[in-house]
Amino acid sequence: MSFKASVKEPVITLSAGPVAAYPSILQALSRPVQYDYDPWFQEFYEAVARKCARAMRVKEPALILHCEPAPGIEATAASLIGPEDTVLNLASGVYGKGFGYWSARYHKDMVEIEVPYNEAISPKAVAAAFKKNPGIKIVSLVHHDTPSGTINPAREIGKIVRDNNALLIVDAVSSFGGMDIHPDDCFADVFITGPGKCLGGAPGLTVMAVSDRAWKHIEKNPKAPFASALSLKDWKDAWSRKKPFPFTPSVAEVNGLDAALDQYLDEGPEKVWHRHALTARATRAGIRAMGLELWAKSEAIASPTCTAVRVPKGLKDTDIIAAARAEYGVVLSTGRNDTLGKLIRIGHMGPVAEPIYAVVAVTAFGGALRKLGRRVDIGAGVEAATRVIAKGKA
Ligand SMILES: *Cc1c(COP(=O)(O)O)cnc(C)c1O
Repeated sequence: MSFKASVKEPVITLSAGPVAAYPSILQALSRPVQYDYDPWFQEFYEAVARKCARAMRVKEPALILHCEPAPGIEATAASLIGPEDTVLNLASGVYGKGFGYWSARYHKDMVEIEVPYNEAISPKAVAAAFKKNPGIKIVSLVHHDTPSGTINPAREIGKIVRDNNALLIVDAVSSFGGMDIHPDDCFADVFITGPGKCLGGAPGLTVMAVSDRAWKHIEKNPKAPFASALSLKDWKDAWSRKKPFPFTPSVAEVNGLDAALDQYLDEGPEKVWHRHALTARATRAGIRAMGLELWAKSEAIASPTCTAVRVPKGLKDTDIIAAARAEYGVVLSTGRNDTLGKLIRIGHMGPVAEPIYAVVAVTAFGGALRKLGRRVDIGAGVEAATRVIAKGKA
């Protein structure tokens, strides 16, 4: 590579995504870039859409959008929310809050439940919102609001949404593949994920499961975009070879997605979730043993795919992150928007969702604090993390 950076390349990336991809995926990304109308690629595309469905445990082949999940979520708002719809937006973090701004371009009304960004949405509050506003047609939930590292009770909320005959959008971008969550478990009508987080692939695609109920609503929406980057309709049944692709799919990324799904399905989802949870648990134990505070209000809502640590008083997040990188070559993530400056995130996604990386994270975090003049018992942190690993219980 001729590129010469001013800094060394990281040694270990423990970011909140994108994550360093598995070697098998890097290999797949170097497969030939096939012509999208060639019968080989068309068959392959169908097989990948079906494999996504197998991973998500749904029947219909997945809808694949050829963009990052953030624009994929925007496209969902544009396609699903019609000018007569009332939306219930659930905001327990930056992504949840952000959906409301997209929704505002399309909806008639919005009701919002917002909780402090270290807490989770309560199903009771959702039930109460329906009682007060029976006209709610669409609900948006972020399962794991990554900039907070907290998990929302998607199953309980989904059940309430279904019982009230509304449609549910679930952003599971940074939880699917790293824990036990699937579209049908949480009654999702649009379930959104991607290969760049827990599946340990490259960023660049959106993978979705869309229910018949949601498609019917999109068909009825007079403003649903078509011939547009925000259209879900354009890509409906794109796997089926019944109509041409609306534009050239990201062929190389589809190669990578296929390998990411193989990695996940061949290892076995339950095993994959277990190592994510165990790594997170060991990390939390180590962080606490060094006298640091978790961002999540309770361990029960702390994510198994990303640990958010409160920035110790008197220190700056960016100084800690810079010290961890300079001394140990370890990359950590800051917060985002409202959580920026308040927390530091340690990702446990894909290839780094292995317990040894809990030890790496604790050492680099503690070492960075020591570099900045704090007294930290790194040994106690490592000891606590390894004790969790030895028990092996996530
Ligand atoms: C990563 C992520 C997305 C996608 O955001 P990008 O900026 O496209 O990577 C969406 N939702 C959540 C909760 C995420 O963690």
